[in-house]
Amino acid sequence: MGKNKEVLIVGAGLGSLASALRLSYSGYKVKIIEKQSIAGGRLNVIKQDGFTFDVGPSFFSMSYEFVELFKSIGEPIPFELNELNPLYTVNIAGSNRVFQIYKDLDRLAEEFKGIENDLESKIRKYLKGAKEIFHDTEYKVVKKNFDSILGFILSMATVPMKHLPKLFRTFWQELERHFESEEVKIIFSLVAFFLGATPFNTPSVYNLLNYTELEHDGYWNVKGGMYKIVEGILGLLDKKGVEIIYNTEITSVSHRNGELTSLQDSNGYEYKADVYIVNADAAWFRGKFLKRAKYTEEKLDKMEWTLAPFTIYLGVNGKIPGIHHHNYFLGDNFRDYADTIFRSTVAPKKPYYYVNVASKSNPECAPEGCENLFILCPVPDLRIKPNWNDGEELVNEILDDLSERVKFDIKNNILTKVVYTPEKWRDMFNLYKGSGLGLAHGLNQIGAFRPSNKDEELNNLYYVGASTTPGTGLPIVVIGSKLIHERIIHEHPTI
Ligand SMILES: Cc1cc2nc3c(=O)[nH]c(=O)nc-3n(C[C@H](O)[C@H](O)[C@H](O)COP(=O)(O)OP(=O)(O)OC[C@H]3O[C@@H](n4cnc5c(N)ncnc54)[C@H](O)[C@@H]3O)c2cc1C
Repeated sequence: MGKNKEVLIVGAGLGSLASALRLSYSGYKVKIIEKQSIAGGRLNVIKQDGFTFDVGPSFFSMSYEFVELFKSIGEPIPFELNELNPLYTVNIAGSNRVFQIYKDLDRLAEEFKGIENDLESKIRKYLKGAKEIFHDTEYKVVKKNFDSILGFILSMATVPMKHLPKLFRTFWQELERHFESEEVKIIFSLVAFFLGATPFNTPSVYNLLNYTELEHDGYWNVKGGMYKIVEGILGLLDKKGVEIIYNTEITSVSHRNGELTSLQDSNGYEYKADVYIVNADAAWFRGKFLKRAKYTEEKLDKMEWTLAPFTIYLGVNGKIPGIHHHNYFLGDNFRDYADTIFRSTVAPKKPYYYVNVASKSNPECAPEGCENLFILCPVPDLRIKPNWNDGEELVNEILDDLSERVKFDIKNNILTKVVYTPEKWRDMFNLYKGSGLGLAHGLNQIGAFRPSNKDEELNNLYYVGASTTPGTGLPIVVIGSKLIHERIIHEHPTI
């Protein structure tokens, strides 16, 4: 009688947890080693003084990827999905209007009355092209394993040629072809920043993201807070006997004859398995532990990375009427801001930021009569601004601006406060130079050009998470777990 194959996973982020689910339900014996004292990685939670905060992600697109994950293991979804309506709210400095962004295009057109004429028919036309790109690339680029650059190029070559001109236009130029008002162009271009780019330097093929938010599946969160995703998965993993070892950091690896043979933690303890999965950053891990020439610090620094998060978690006494659940606060210099935010060596002046007030829809996240605010200000990563000793200045700048815009004295009503600078983000989860979403998604860093989910030299080593394929974001790392599951069950079948 053979025995079930053993799988060891480094890190307990969402990519790891989703992989552990798929593999344990396929008969593998899975163990996870996590540096932190709780699971989730960036999808984490802070509980303090009666307040609960989502640490990182606060909503997601493509909710059907979670549905697929649980369907694939024959379990009901262990949390409650909640569609956002409106999707989000945008405040632009200098404008006295607050824009609510709806999927219902009729209603959306109403929001922009007097600003953009005939918005509904313009958006329909704009989204038609975006929809085609999304569906023409979904299975050829995103939901596919690649073993070579040639294979990737051949797959790309089957994408209809009519999309080609979009590679030569920027996201912003595509918006300019369809819309006149600055407000509409700015708002629809915000998604480009999730890719690690600006709308002025990323190709217009990525306007498919507007299709995902405005037409396809919209945005979703989870009743009771995003950490319910992690808690729900942990319950199922426990049922399958998956062991998670916390407070343990892997600091070296051993390999022989093209196989990874063991992992060692900072206390010198050794862990062995048949198959290994790394959920730490796939590019950083290759450089730091496997000493690969392609991933030295110098080479990593030359790659394109997404912005670093500067995050503030505030428990506030009082209800703030002038704010909604998901809000963007933008300044009045969008182009300049976009041009400098990736390379400025100082903290942004008049920062652009996102505010999530979960207590607006989930009253259990804050004591009665209070709000919980999560503020995210994307800033240059630590290659560019290596030190955040001046972080408190940015906190003040944001709180002064926010208080004025929502007409509520936030500073004098703070009951609890936590701040994570990019250094803290780096140190907590081993995020390379504090980059929040990992490697960017320019055309030179996707598909076979992204660090592969299968190691190039070690036959039993795989990667899952934001910096490997297909890329970053909750539903995308869930797709990543499906892709390595596909590989592992074929390449290392268990009984
Ligand atoms: C501020 C912020 C906001 C975001 N908002 C959204 C959003 O709204 N919607 C969305 O879809 N996405 C969002 N994202 C992106 C999303 O969080 C990530 O894409 C996703 O969570 C990444 O998951 P992962 O599988 O790569 O694992 P990670 O979250 O990176 O987890 C990896 C785990 O590995 C552990 N680890 C690393 N190295 C070691 C080691 N050597 N030994 C042991 N353990 C180790 C880490 O401690 C960590 O727990 C956001 C990210 C940030 C930072």
